[in-house]
Amino acid sequence: MKDISCKLLVIGAGPGGYVCAIRAGQLGIDTVIVEKARPGGTCLNVGCIPSKALIHAADEFHKVKAMATGSDALGISLASPEIDLARTMAWKDRIVGRLNTGVAGLLKKARVKAIEGHARFRDGKTVVVETETGEQVIRAEAIVIATGSVPVELPDLPFGGDVISSTGALSLERVPASLAVVGGGYIGLELGTAFAKLGANVTVVETMPRILPLYDAELTRPVVRRLESLGVGVMSGARAKSMAKDGGALVAEAGEGGEIRIAAEKVLVTVGRRPATEGWGLDQIDLDMDGRFIRIDEQCRTSMRGVYAIGDVTGEPMLAHRAIAQGEMVAEIVAGHRRSWDRRAVPAVCFTDPEVVSVGLSPEEARKAVRDVKIGNFPFSASGRAMTLQAEDGFVRIVARADNHVVLGVQAVGAGVAEMAAAFALSIEMGARLEDVAGTMAAHPTLGEAFQESALKALGHALHI
Ligand SMILES: Cc1cc2nc3c(=O)[nH]c(=O)nc-3n(C[C@H](O)[C@H](O)[C@H](O)COP(=O)(O)OP(=O)(O)OC[C@H]3O[C@@H](n4cnc5c(N)ncnc54)[C@H](O)[C@@H]3O)c2cc1C
Repeated sequence: MKDISCKLLVIGAGPGGYVCAIRAGQLGIDTVIVEKARPGGTCLNVGCIPSKALIHAADEFHKVKAMATGSDALGISLASPEIDLARTMAWKDRIVGRLNTGVAGLLKKARVKAIEGHARFRDGKTVVVETETGEQVIRAEAIVIATGSVPVELPDLPFGGDVISSTGALSLERVPASLAVVGGGYIGLELGTAFAKLGANVTVVETMPRILPLYDAELTRPVVRRLESLGVGVMSGARAKSMAKDGGALVAEAGEGGEIRIAAEKVLVTVGRRPATEGWGLDQIDLDMDGRFIRIDEQCRTSMRGVYAIGDVTGEPMLAHRAIAQGEMVAEIVAGHRRSWDRRAVPAVCFTDPEVVSVGLSPEEARKAVRDVKIGNFPFSASGRAMTLQAEDGFVRIVARADNHVVLGVQAVGAGVAEMAAAFALSIEMGARLEDVAGTMAAHPTLGEAFQESALKALGHALHI
């Protein structure tokens, strides 16, 4: 196979890598991207998109089931509904397939050369790709490592058989009668809630004292309430140990209570993700590391000249939109633009029930940073729109500096609040003050009015509470 030379080589076609390659192509840079699996990476194939498809299907099924049991407040009733999970998964796979084709088409449109295979560094300018038809050597002036992350495995609960990762959960063809979820972070709770709505008997085992430990307790309280009403067992302060020897159960250690058995046809382990730093020749280029992650500067440059790293492989928050923003920036840097990482806020969303959004600083973080803060909290129980949507549990909370009212953070919990994350992030990126948010008309009746009202509340004159 003839060697290839290019200006930019991107390793990994997840949201970080493929966006970097598309932007580079748009800027006229001679670009090659290498991907060992399908375009779109974790996010498109086994992460963000398929999980949200399953969550949507579970929500729909749950709603219909409530109607069938006669517990629907709207007065709708129907005969006993059923779900064919294999068909749900086939629908989800069609969405993934459409998006795979879409990414491949966008790369082509940007004149990026896409190569399928496993890439491995030979040195800082040369990569060897194992393709189906043999080895392809690629020399590049600049190389972007966008190899992403993989699920963390527990030594006593290795993946295989009835112990599954999020990827396994997203391809189940039958709803398990019982599911133990090890890890109460966002991935475990999103999938655990979906399976509970699909009919599984779900128990979440979390070592920390509460679920979603990265969010404050006020923000996660409505999620805890909803898990309770769905019948999901939450065992916090408990440690999962192993599968029971006779199968069908997870053995966990629960504080003073000693060892307990949790019924579990399947055990879903979601205890975090680790950067994919193995198998592509990190040892050949000996990059500086930041713990398990590749160390980068504010331009995503690694310790080796001409080698950049973006996305999950570079650290927290391991989120698709951070990878995308880094990818776009690096393409522009390679094209000679003056860019550096200047994002003030990376939104984080949990697609739990209800959804949780956090952008910028929480009240506690803001108090540490600037001491005097103003906080406005507007509950959805005072929102007419929330009432019509049967979505009154939750609130929008705004955090601003007390001296000049500049918004430092916005958090929300409630049905559909994920769609408000862009408005929250915009207010922080634009350096909005409470008066700007309060003075921006929200259409009536929408949930967005709660954002405006939260700013009014912080200013001391909310209108609807
Ligand atoms: C169940 C689940 C739900 C999630 N939900 C969300 C969400 O709602 N919102 C959100 O923002 N994030 C979510 N995430 C996280 C999100 O998927 C990641 O943050 C994102 O995919 C990271 O993008 P990336 O480009 O860094 O890497 P990845 O998407 O992991 O892509 C890396 C790519 O590199 C390829 N690769 C690796 N090594 C090589 C090699 N040597 N040669 C060739 N190719 C290679 C891999 O095959 C992969 O395709 C979720 C993750 C999971 C697991």
